[in-house]
Amino acid sequence: MHAQDIFSKYQTTFSFEFFPAKTEASAAALYSTIAELEPYKPSFVSVTYGAGGSTRDLTNDLVVKLKETTSLDPSPHLTCVCHQEDEIHSIIERYAASGVSNILALGGDPPHNLADYDRSQDAFQHAAGLVKFIKKFNETGAHPDPRGFGIGVAAFPEGHPTTPNRLKEMDYLKAKVDAGADYIVTQLFFDNHDFHDFRDRCRLAGIDIPIIAGIMPIVTKKGMDRMADLAAGAHFPAKLLRSLDRAGDESERVERVGIDHATEQCLDLLENKVDGIHFYTLNKSRATREIYANLGMENTEANLK
Ligand SMILES: Cc1cc2nc3c(=O)[nH]c(=O)nc-3n(C[C@H](O)[C@H](O)[C@H](O)COP(=O)(O)OP(=O)(O)OC[C@H]3O[C@@H](n4cnc5c(N)ncnc54)[C@H](O)[C@@H]3O)c2cc1C
Repeated sequence: MHAQDIFSKYQTTFSFEFFPAKTEASAAALYSTIAELEPYKPSFVSVTYGAGGSTRDLTNDLVVKLKETTSLDPSPHLTCVCHQEDEIHSIIERYAASGVSNILALGGDPPHNLADYDRSQDAFQHAAGLVKFIKKFNETGAHPDPRGFGIGVAAFPEGHPTTPNRLKEMDYLKAKVDAGADYIVTQLFFDNHDFHDFRDRCRLAGIDIPIIAGIMPIVTKKGMDRMADLAAGAHFPAKLLRSLDRAGDESERVERVGIDHATEQCLDLLENKVDGIHFYTLNKSRATREIYANLGMENTEANLK
């Protein structure tokens, strides 16, 4: 379903993010997670895109598999990194042929395994260029929906770690919206004040498309450390850290703290009429399922308009 129709259908969208599995064992775990989460009828699910190399095909494979074998509505991530226009064209042509409705257009993380990676050699240095390219593709009528793909873009409530000037960063985000983005998905955050302030700043800048809040429940202390690396600059509130300290090394209690914190975040976001909540699932289902239960929701249809 095109993003515009998704946002007209739900008061608040609920979506889940998966990453493609690289081994048989992780693929089996991913497919059980997907089977466990399918009954929650998410508004859509998204599939991440690797920084380069063969893992990139896995995104396409997973998206097509989800389309063909489940009731889920998959939206692939696509990045500018290490791509020329002809490659991007053939990827989106394939997605159009498979009936994929929406794409999250991203700058992309630089590949770790390419020491001499040079962004200036990519067709697009920033996501805004990719948004314009998809928009142009939409005008060719090659997509089964006459509007073409719905286009999502990323944003960073606490600021992107490599952009020191937050005023300029908002101009860059506005450029992506003006290029044709239909919705925004945010980086994960643990303190809702950061999100509320970001959303206010977007509205002041004239950005009025839906903004989906990225939520990642902490399930292990190791996972939290990894997140601090992945979402560089993420702010961990003292209240959360104190509860995690009290949980000590007991994994069940750590998970309970993470799920309770994420539940409180979701309740506050719903109170504040957020457009959408996107769970970074890390290919696991338990935290998401428990948050639905805590919110009193059997599935996402509880949020239909
Ligand atoms: C929801 C979400 C999903 C993600 N999924 C993936 C994924 O699947 N694969 C992956 O590799 N990465 C992913 N990322 C990471 C993301 O690609 C990187 O963090 C990237 O650095 C920023 O992406 P962007 O789309 O905001 O890029 P851009 O909008 O291109 O911005 C990148 C940087 O350039 C700056 N900038 C933008 N325009 C200009 C300009 N005109 N002049 C100067 N500076 C400019 C921005 O402020 C920012 O610092 C994801 C991030 C989020 C929030």
